[in-house]
Amino acid sequence: MKSLKAECSNIHCPSCGAAKVVLTDGDVFRCEYCDTKFNFDLDDIEPSTENKIMLEELKGLFSEKKALLEGEKQKYKNLLVYYSVKSSAKKSEILSVVCLLISVAFLFSVGISPFLALGAVPGIAAFILILLYRKKVYKKYHPFAQYFASKVVKYEEQISVYTKLLSKLTE
Ligand SMILES: [Zn+2]
Repeated sequence: MKSLKAECSNIHCPSCGAAKVVLTDGDVFRCEYCDTKFNFDLDDIEPSTENKIMLEELKGLFSEKKALLEGEKQKYKNLLVYYSVKSSAKKSEILSVVCLLISVAFLFSVGISPFLALGAVPGIAAFILILLYRKKVYKKYHPFAQYFASKVVKYEEQISVYTKLLSKLTE
């Protein structure tokens, strides 16, 4: 994801004084000239007029970054839902149970004649095959669901960092 650039901003590098900085992670900025990384202790900034303009800019950058992260999170959330549904294979589960129930019903209706009971075999076989298929589907799609779930968590963590920063700025 692209980082946010603040060119000619009110945020100055504490090392070289340049006003060309990039917001990287959390509240950490990187100076594009001297590569110094820095952040602000938001509780410690005096409310002078000059600082107020800078704080407004910080607020804008943090909001923008938060919105970007929320967009990314939603993308991964959609993928997570897609692969969760795929890996759960609910339809095949229901189908296998139906097959089994038909077989059981057949067994009951024909009594205990061993010859006629053979009629239940296809239903039981279908039950087992569908369960095996379901296992395969789970194995195939579950890792994707897990991967996207971890992504969603990662973005949620980052978003909460900006929520906290913004709440500090609006205090
Ligand atoms: Zn610098």
